[in-house]
Amino acid sequence: MSRSDSTTFLVPHPPSVDKSVTHAAESGQSCAACFPLTVGDGDCVDRDTLLSSQNGGCTICSFFITAITTAVGSTALWKHASTWIDKGILGLTIAKTEPYDSSCVAVLAINGESGPSPFAWIPTLAKSPYSRTFARDLCMIEEWIQECQQNHPHCQQLSTPTLPTRVIDVGGGGRDPCLVHSQGRAGQYLALSHRWGDPTSHVTKLVTMKENISQHYLGIPLANIPATFRDAIIVARHLRIPYVWIDSLCIVQDDRED
Ligand SMILES: [Zn+2]
Ligand SMILES: [Zn+2]
Repeated sequence: MSRSDSTTFLVPHPPSVDKSVTHAAESGQSCAACFPLTVGDGDCVDRDTLLSSQNGGCTICSFFITAITTAVGSTALWKHASTWIDKGILGLTIAKTEPYDSSCVAVLAINGESGPSPFAWIPTLAKSPYSRTFARDLCMIEEWIQECQQNHPHCQQLSTPTLPTRVIDVGGGGRDPCLVHSQGRAGQYLALSHRWGDPTSHVTKLVTMKENISQHYLGIPLANIPATFRDAIIVARHLRIPYVWIDSLCIVQDDRED
């Protein structure tokens, strides 16, 4: 087994600690037996030493034994353990018989987003595999929509409702968004609910007026669109929803009738 096929054993939260065991628990500090494993310089620790220290109440010895047992299934399958630190992870290596016959069985890292850890010796991944990314957020939105459509009678909507009078065609594939008149057609759209901001602010707002509506029908360059609107358009594109409704763009702001 090499480093690359080792098991990733992430620690989303500090392992639970038996409150009756005070040794090492509050401080998150190692005992003499497990100390070498918290340093990560490859020094071997005997399994039997770890086991007896675990029985003596060291939660960190117990933690290492749990991690190894989770990876290999039994304490009978190894004799020595050691660790290495590299690129923000702590690798846990076991040897079956002799120290040179070793394989990495687990990679330890604290999920940096779950808060501070008492185990300062486990590297913290600021950008953990649990981190938010655009792709993860999109998956979550898709799951929420699916959940609402399938299981929430109050949320369920027609898959293609009648469009509002005007919507923004989100464009994509090199095509800028543009305002379109729906002519009563049906289609999928996202409605953006947003704060209008301070009415006295001098920041230019993107709104549709009588004077620019024909321009907006031709196209609104993505680069000219404020970030909140742009995010809504980009999310819609990724969700393969062709339209968004944004009040300030889809309602002509200086037309009382509209
Ligand atoms: Zn210990
Ligand atoms: Zn719902």
